[in-house]
Amino acid sequence: MAFKAKILTIFPEIFPGFLGYSLTGKALNEGIWQLETVNIRDYAFDKHGSVDDTPCGGGAGMIMRPDVLGEAIEHNYNGGKIIYMSPKGKPLTQQKVHELSREDNLTIICGRFEGIDERVIEEYNIEEISIGDYILTGGEQAAMIMLDAIVRLLPNVLGNSASTENESFEGDLLEYPQYTRPTEWKGRKVPDVLMSGHHENVAKWQREQALQITKERRPDLLEKILDSK
Ligand code: SAH
Repeated sequence: MAFKAKILTIFPEIFPGFLGYSLTGKALNEGIWQLETVNIRDYAFDKHGSVDDTPCGGGAGMIMRPDVLGEAIEHNYNGGKIIYMSPKGKPLTQQKVHELSREDNLTIICGRFEGIDERVIEEYNIEEISIGDYILTGGEQAAMIMLDAIVRLLPNVLGNSASTENESFEGDLLEYPQYTRPTEWKGRKVPDVLMSGHHENVAKWQREQALQITKERRPDLLEKILDSK
C-alpha cells in the first residue's frame, strides 16, 4: 500500500511545492506515495470562509476555530495518525521520521495565525510535532519538510538505498566530510586516504572524522550515546 498524506490547510495551492521535484516528485508520479489536500475554508460556516477568531482571554493574533477544523477533520479522516505541526510538539528527529515512514496514512493539520484551538487536539487525539525551536508563519512549511524526510525513506525512493546508512543522525554521529573530483581544486587536495583504495583505512578515517565533527559541533549527540549505554 502506498504511503498517503492528507493535508488540512488554508493554502492548498502551496502543495506539492518542492515535494513535486527530484526524488520526492518522481516518487509522487510513480505512486509510491500520495498527497491529497483539503481546504479548511471549504468547511467554514459563512460565505467568507472564516476559519479563525480572536483568542479567549485576550492576546495578540487569531486562533483557528475548533468547529470549522473539526468539520474538516471529520469529513476527510480515513484512519491513521492525525498530526498537528506545532512548535509545542515533540521534536522531529530522524528516528521519528523512520517511525512515520512505516505508517500507511497520515492526516496533517497545518496551523496559521497563532495556531489552533486546544480542544481540537484533545478531541481527536492529535499528535503535535515540531520541526525545530523557532516559529514559522504556518504549518505548511513544516509539513513539507517532514514529508520530504519521510518520503525519501520509503522503499524504492532513493536509488541506492545504502546511501542513507552513513548519513548524519542515522548512526549516532554526524556524517564525515565528502569529496568528489577534481582531486585537487584551488590548491586543496582530497585527503590521500580516500584515494588509496584501501577500504579499511577509508572506513577508519571516516569514523574518526565523524567522531571529531560530532564532538566539535554536537556534543549533545555524544552525551546521548553515553547516556544510553
Ligand atoms: N502561537 C504559536 C505559534 C503559531 S505559528 C506558539 O507560540 O506556539 C503558526 C503556525 O505555524 C502553527 O500553528 C504551526 O502549525 C506552524 N509552526 C510554526 N512553527 C513551527 C515549528 N517550529 N514546527 C512546526 N510547526 C510550526
